[in-house]
Amino acid sequence: MIVMKFGGTSVESADAIRRVAEIVQARQDRHPLVVVSAMGKTTNRLLAAADKAAAGNLEDAHRDIEELEAFHRREIGAILPADKHGKLDDVLETHFVDLEASLGEVATTGEVTPQLWDEIGSYGERLSSLLVAMAFNALGVPSVHLDARHALVTDSRHTQALPLYGRTYARFREKAVPLLREAVVVMGGFIGATADGVTTTLGRGGSDFSASIAGAGIGAEEIQIWTDVDGMLTCDPRILPGGHLLRTISFNEAAELAYFGAKVLHPSTLLPAVEKDIPVRILNSRHPEVEGTRVVAEMVHSTNPVKSISCKRGITVVNIRSLRMLMAHGFLRRIFEVFDRYRTPVDMVATTEVSVSLTIDQTQMLPEIEAELSRIAEVVVTPDQALICLVGEAIRETPGISARIFGAVRDVNVRMISQGASLLNFSLVVNDADLVRTIKALHDEFFSELDPAVFEV
Ligand code: ASP
Ligand code: MG
Repeated sequence: MIVMKFGGTSVESADAIRRVAEIVQARQDRHPLVVVSAMGKTTNRLLAAADKAAAGNLEDAHRDIEELEAFHRREIGAILPADKHGKLDDVLETHFVDLEASLGEVATTGEVTPQLWDEIGSYGERLSSLLVAMAFNALGVPSVHLDARHALVTDSRHTQALPLYGRTYARFREKAVPLLREAVVVMGGFIGATADGVTTTLGRGGSDFSASIAGAGIGAEEIQIWTDVDGMLTCDPRILPGGHLLRTISFNEAAELAYFGAKVLHPSTLLPAVEKDIPVRILNSRHPEVEGTRVVAEMVHSTNPVKSISCKRGITVVNIRSLRMLMAHGFLRRIFEVFDRYRTPVDMVATTEVSVSLTIDQTQMLPEIEAELSRIAEVVVTPDQALICLVGEAIRETPGISARIFGAVRDVNVRMISQGASLLNFSLVVNDADLVRTIKALHDEFFSELDPAVFEV
């Protein structure tokens, strides 16, 4: 058994769904459980309609919803044979009548409560999973639908629910495994339900998480995340083209990369898979022949100590210098309390006896933070910085890496450095204006020779 997850763009149209059906058909012998996101931008549209309803604009909300219904009818109708169009209308009608009722409720309350947010936001996956199962059958891939809300049991933290793993895995074994012996199973990502059956969601972009949970639940031999990129690369193609595809990467490395802005996978997504030691493969639904990137639990040995270079732009460096009493205890606590009070996450920290430098990427509360810190310290704020992060589990144990890094960036003014606490990254902060040339220099240094076992050459 395998899990195959397809995101919103992979199922955004009749053509896209046909491509997906072909991909699934070619892997039918591996008994796939298919996890789908909402079609295209459906979730955004649903939530926008909810906001309009809350603002008392029920007519606009209504119009948005009609457009959504027409969109689903058009794309799925293009795949189904004529004798199934009645069934399609029935499915759409029941869902959209209920959806309108929920929007009405929002209009009456005047607010989108977290529970209503989940209820309304869930329709994208409720529909896509049912409709994709119908489409697969029409396209010659025998399929059954599994309502995720009957399998994925969550707590009741609406909009950010977490699975109750024991119950969820038991349900997957009971409900999904027997179905998988007979046919392809199609389930919606992102959504679940409490033990009492109240619909919940796992947070935006949660379908990857669903795939990982489902894979752990059925004991899949592999979890495939089908996206629109070939896999993980040695550098972000939007910053520097010409990176190389990674064949294999460890979970730890992938999580580290995800924290630093590689948009391919969210780190928490991987936890259920890691715990059960199930490899996750990232694949491209537009190039299904590319082998993609395999994310595995164990360390991946390579002659290249650095596996990838990622970065985060729009970083602000805050430099805080103690006014008196060097080494005063409590100084760090007071600094972090200020950031905490203004709910501003701190990314990277470097300290000396008298000063602390840290980076943030949310600056809405910065004026308040600066004002408070100025009472106890001298504060200098530098915007427009970029954080560059070299990731590789071998970084900690390979001598001479720092020399290579500093050799490569010798012409660049480096603001901060940190060998991450996780020991598998090395981070530097530079002026955003220097970002591209710095990454280029580092990439040339670490990837001019490639280990063919780990990188596609
Ligand atoms: N449809 C949901 C969202 O847009 C979940 C997902 O796509 O992963 O956030
Ligand atoms: Mg997504």
